[in-house]
Amino acid sequence: MKPSYKRVVPFLLILLASYQSAFGQGKKPNIVILATGGTIAGAAATGTQSSYTSGKVTIDAMLDSVPGIRDLANLKGEQIANVGSQDMTFEIMLKLAKRINELLASNDTDGIVVTHGTDTLEETTFFLNLTVKSDKPVVMVGSMRPSTAISADGPLNLYDAVAVAADPQAKGRGVLVVMNDWIQGAHSLTKTSTTAVQTFMSPLRGVVGISAYGKNDFYNSPSWKHTTSSEFDTSDVNKLPRVDIIYGDVDMSPDLIDCSVRNGAKGIVIAGVGNGNMNKASIDAAARAVKQGVVVVRSSRVVTGTVGRNVEVKDDELGFVASDELNPQKSRILLSLALLKTQSPEQIQQMFATY
Ligand code: ASP
Repeated sequence: MKPSYKRVVPFLLILLASYQSAFGQGKKPNIVILATGGTIAGAAATGTQSSYTSGKVTIDAMLDSVPGIRDLANLKGEQIANVGSQDMTFEIMLKLAKRINELLASNDTDGIVVTHGTDTLEETTFFLNLTVKSDKPVVMVGSMRPSTAISADGPLNLYDAVAVAADPQAKGRGVLVVMNDWIQGAHSLTKTSTTAVQTFMSPLRGVVGISAYGKNDFYNSPSWKHTTSSEFDTSDVNKLPRVDIIYGDVDMSPDLIDCSVRNGAKGIVIAGVGNGNMNKASIDAAARAVKQGVVVVRSSRVVTGTVGRNVEVKDDELGFVASDELNPQKSRILLSLALLKTQSPEQIQQMFATY
């Protein structure tokens, strides 16, 4: 007996629909969004108000405000913290690294997006770049305008961040930052404007790629060691050693260095002038610190360029470390992690050449 079309067609349609929902859905990557606060979650009373409070909007409310974002991936949100990133702490950063490692170890998670304030976004990004143990995409995102502003930049940034985290091409490039169409690498980006939407730049290395309305184009991969090739493991760490940054300027006061040592710093980063320089009195204070077992890293307050060994300062003789390409705030992150493993300036210098 021939089956009638009337009977078979609806059956086939049902079969097709269930195939699409089972396999079409299954094909979408699973992305977890870990929210920490920042301007992207900020709110003001009106759309034109310059004052606002960071970390007011929850991750679910943020996701609901981005049209089409759930078409890119299966999304789950988790609130890790809800602070302006000026209040970010090492405690939260350690918690974030642990949670990311936990999630990425499972086959159920294909990538992570972290929403974060922009003020200290480069520190958390670099910290995660050294402590995440997976080559799956981890993408940081923030915004310069609060969610309530006219032309808020958060929604498109979040959309693009999810598109990058869902993209297999983003794998193995270390922790990335996606903001204002640009995909940038943890090692090289820095915040360059207090207010501009195009605030993050990578002056020495350039962008890793572009993400435009969720379409990604990758140009290069950061060449520094990161994630799976990093030697740093914070899974059992609850506290990082104290490292202070001391700003160099004309006629700087050397007693700031002595004060930092007295207060228990295990490392000091000098945001020096020019090529990581400081005046003679401060060099002497830094040399005294080294003699007491404190590791001194010379970085620079200048926004681009490298700090090289023994250029104007006798690093070999005085036992200092030169920061290479790392700015003071990222030098502080690397030095804090390095001090968990060693106090040897030679070994730490090697790390600054590697990470
Ligand atoms: N103060 C804010 C923060 O870092 C600024 C921002 O997110 O753009 O949380």
